[in-house]
Amino acid sequence: MLSDVITLTQEMVRVPSLSGNEAGVAELVAGRMRALGFTDVRTDRNGSVLGLAGPEDAEVALLFDGHLDVVPVVGEWRFDPFGATIHEGRLYGRGSTDMKGGVAAAICGVAAAAREGKLVRRVGVSASVLEEVIEGHALGSVLDLCQPAAVVICEPSKLEVRTGQKGRLELSLTLHGKPAHAASPHLGVNPLHAAARALLALESLTLPTDPALGPALLVPTDIVSSPYPSISMIPSATTIRFDRRTLSGETAEDVLSEIRGHLAKHGIDDYTLTITDDAVQTFTGIEARPTRWLPAWSQPVEAPLVKQAFEALTRAGVSPRAGSWPFCTNGSESAGRRRIPTIGLGPGREEDAHTIDESIALDQLEAAREIYKQLTWIACAA
Ligand SMILES: [Zn+2]
Repeated sequence: MLSDVITLTQEMVRVPSLSGNEAGVAELVAGRMRALGFTDVRTDRNGSVLGLAGPEDAEVALLFDGHLDVVPVVGEWRFDPFGATIHEGRLYGRGSTDMKGGVAAAICGVAAAAREGKLVRRVGVSASVLEEVIEGHALGSVLDLCQPAAVVICEPSKLEVRTGQKGRLELSLTLHGKPAHAASPHLGVNPLHAAARALLALESLTLPTDPALGPALLVPTDIVSSPYPSISMIPSATTIRFDRRTLSGETAEDVLSEIRGHLAKHGIDDYTLTITDDAVQTFTGIEARPTRWLPAWSQPVEAPLVKQAFEALTRAGVSPRAGSWPFCTNGSESAGRRRIPTIGLGPGREEDAHTIDESIALDQLEAAREIYKQLTWIACAA
């Protein structure tokens, strides 16, 4: 017979849930939380589900966080991406690793902790929306609701403790030109030439490095002219989009002034540099324009929450290991912005996320459930 965490992961994988379309899986999760004995289950304005276990008026000692949305299915799959097929000890499907498995393990682990022992404080599970398009935005509303003392991000980490992560700043650099007929280019100013110079200049920018998080990165991800397509004409502007991976302690203003200084050194001055804020829409109908500035965070392995996680891993028979995430998670909101003690710890391998034939090992799911159960007890006793 399959255990509760495996069947719940299967049920969740079978409900497709692209960002902004998580209604079905949110309803499923809320129902399962109630059935498993969570005392307070609510769906917030964005559609994120928050389930709390433990005595009604007690403070929230710990919040396990995961997201319900998944990235689109692309390519040829061996298994139905929404079939949740089990094959040779692995469960296949979009969102199995990233990260319905982690959410299911948190729900089943906290429910088991409440059932098998007495919780003296409250512990919650946040199943939030829109993470794949804007990390931390939806978690922010959940944190407002429950004010947890600590947060565990259940994204895949091979059950290793992640003590920090890089941050992310999305930038839009627009080079201004003067439109003219392509047959008379001397009458205009072509912003594509300035864009080429800016790209080369910024490639040579020296970026900081952090011993725990590694090097900061500045990666161009898109370039588009206006009008697009620009046929037989010199465009009026060219915009390059950059993804800047940031380190602990770097602010958005640091990054902007570093780029401005470097462009000035290369004689590039007719431009606009902004932080992007593309619109997102929740399935509940709320539109927002969250700024794409997600700060990095990191902490020493001696931090109390890291020690508690090590203890939970040991009790669950998993040898404790620590490291950091090179990618961005909801932790940017809890730790990066709000300074709430936060760690990452989840089932599955980071490298299986967003892949064709995404899958998760069943033993990772079961171990995560046990680790989360132990951590619930440890956090309540602390
Ligand atoms: Zn994820």
